[in-house]
Amino acid sequence: MRYQGREMNVDGRVRLVMESALTARDRVGVQDFVLLENYNSEVAFIDNLRRRFRENLIYTYIGSVLVSVNPYKDLEIYSKAQMERYRGVSFYEISPHIYALSDNTYRAMRTERKDQCILISGESGAGKTEASKKILLYYTVTCPTGDHMAALGERLLQSNPVLEAFGNAKTLRNDNSSRFGKYMDVQFDFKGVPVGGHILNYLLEKSRVVHQNHGERNFHIFYQLLEGGDDDLLKSLELERNPQNYNYLVKGNCPRISSINDKNSWKTVMNALLVIGFVEEEVQNLMNIIGGILHLGNTQFGEGEEGETYVTNEDQILTLEKLFGVNSSALTEAVTHKKLTAKGEEMISPLNFEQTLSARDALAKSVYRRTFNWLVEKINQSLAQKDEIHHSRKDFSVIGVLDIYGFEVLQHNSFEQFCINYCNEKLQQLFIELTLQYEQEEYETEGIAWETVQYFDNKIICELIEEKHKGIISIMNEECLRPGETCDASFLEKMEDSIGGHPHFVTHKLANGKTRRVMSREEFRLLHYAGEVSYNVNGFLDKNNDLLSRSLKEVMCQSDNQILSHCFRRKEVNDQKRSETASTQFKNSLMKLMEILMSKEPSYVRCIKPNDSKQPGKFDEVLVRHQVKYLGLMENLRVRRAGFAYRRRFEAFLQRYKPLCPETWPNWNGCLSDGVSTLVEHLGYTPEEYKLGRSKIFIRFPKTLFTTEDALEA
Ligand code: ATP
Ligand code: MG
Repeated sequence: MRYQGREMNVDGRVRLVMESALTARDRVGVQDFVLLENYNSEVAFIDNLRRRFRENLIYTYIGSVLVSVNPYKDLEIYSKAQMERYRGVSFYEISPHIYALSDNTYRAMRTERKDQCILISGESGAGKTEASKKILLYYTVTCPTGDHMAALGERLLQSNPVLEAFGNAKTLRNDNSSRFGKYMDVQFDFKGVPVGGHILNYLLEKSRVVHQNHGERNFHIFYQLLEGGDDDLLKSLELERNPQNYNYLVKGNCPRISSINDKNSWKTVMNALLVIGFVEEEVQNLMNIIGGILHLGNTQFGEGEEGETYVTNEDQILTLEKLFGVNSSALTEAVTHKKLTAKGEEMISPLNFEQTLSARDALAKSVYRRTFNWLVEKINQSLAQKDEIHHSRKDFSVIGVLDIYGFEVLQHNSFEQFCINYCNEKLQQLFIELTLQYEQEEYETEGIAWETVQYFDNKIICELIEEKHKGIISIMNEECLRPGETCDASFLEKMEDSIGGHPHFVTHKLANGKTRRVMSREEFRLLHYAGEVSYNVNGFLDKNNDLLSRSLKEVMCQSDNQILSHCFRRKEVNDQKRSETASTQFKNSLMKLMEILMSKEPSYVRCIKPNDSKQPGKFDEVLVRHQVKYLGLMENLRVRRAGFAYRRRFEAFLQRYKPLCPETWPNWNGCLSDGVSTLVEHLGYTPEEYKLGRSKIFIRFPKTLFTTEDALEA
């Protein structure tokens, strides 16, 4: 049932392109790669993408997968009128569109009563978040609304500006880059009315709160507050408007960007918070935290004769007392000292200058991350179905949309890139399992003979990273937990010892004991499915440990700020158990995500970034080819074409084409397979043109189908 209703029904327009208007086809290419004559050729594939891109046709199918190329300009294709065009129309009846995919997913959910998910992938800046917003917009505009649920659509939509303000930032690759992963469920009742929503968020890149690379910014909200907050608010937070005055905002040396209007965004975010249901006090508390983090970044320390540290600008700490709602001397003490418990006794020892700075930064990062989680929680409360009592779990179906960071290769790759790329390996694995394997299995279950297509199975890389005891995450955790002096270098050594010979793992050490000169001694390289990435191990263990001292937690859990007291719980301070490492938490959350996705019927949007300079009209062939390769699009197409271009369930095929044969018209009363057989024999199909499976007819060439469609219209 998976592809039913999504793949057939080749429309007049395609036929026009295919057959009569060769010039048009030359210009706009084919709307489904399956129709490419030379479907094995990457050149032809990219040529087709380019032609369509030039004509502003940014969407193309590979069967039921939607390929999208970022136009980097506003196209007039997302209006309400456009939405209407795509409602209830089969996949191929009009030009490819994200709305077509949204609509087909919705209908599949309704008719098959099966939960759906839409997986959006692609590298940073390829258009994933924009695609996810278009999908959400489509549902909120076109789906029926229940009386009391009219506001839900608005709340669903407004969750985006809030999460983007707190979770997105300008990076070198994307002015509005999502620095967290997001999976959003929209729940529909039996009438197809959206009745609720739920968001899961993944690994916020919190290191950005205290450090930004050159040309990048901190999270948008900081700049929005400084630009857009009214005078009274800024006064209450003791903030000045100039971002350059704040240590946590100056590192990237790029406070303003032409593509972003922080002042307007601020208004949008404030309105969105209101719509979602945040009360005034919560917004004030939230801004106290954001302002507090900026003040925290500006606290300065001096070094005493014994190497101890002290705060040099007391006024900052007093401001923090107000904004974070904590006791200033307790805070100072906790940032500059550590508490040790030895033999049941508590001892306090001073931190040195470096340690103090990192304790301060750890606090800022932790406060921000927890506040972000709190925001998601609040949004989820607002999106939760209000009359849940009336909805047993079975009463509603779900469409989930996954917008998660794409594969990342930076100049300097660290723990964050390692996690992001691991996540992409997992998603690729899921794609392989669900699409490539599924396709091949379908032939098998239908009993159709065909030649297996080879594709690279990245399972080996996933295992290299996540395998128990032997995988990189396990080795890293072991190093974090090992008593005594451990450091990033020893982590690297451990990896060399246990996985040194793995075909996807490389360090400076060569198998013959010599060293590879081109690699630094602090690096390890992973040969990902999408390409090679060198990771610098510096900071891996710290980031994986993700420790915030107990003293700081103690101070924070006494906060008067209600958000902070919710985020820092006494239970956590009292709990002697060591919390899970960051990589373990991430791995577990990914496992859960995979389970969620596996339980649903997937659709795919594969986003491609046409150039690195965010420019409209520019199609960088080398860049595109690379993405086509690692998104596995050629394999996808080959599998789709290797056997049969089209397939359709017997009943659907008969239903559509029965008028073409006197024996099947107006009704065929025998078994379906015989009916289809009679019909195609009457139509003159040759044996190599088609095969009958157990429940579906498989048609090898698109042309066969076009001819049949023509006959229907004649
Ligand atoms: P990241 O992984 O960094 O979050 P992303 O894949 O989510 O990247 P987007 O933020 O969706 O990328 O897109 C980057 C920018 O490209 C957008 O801010 C917008 O300017 C432009 N863009 C993307 N898709 C479209 C579209 N369909 N129409 C017009 N512009 C688009
Ligand atoms: Mg994004």
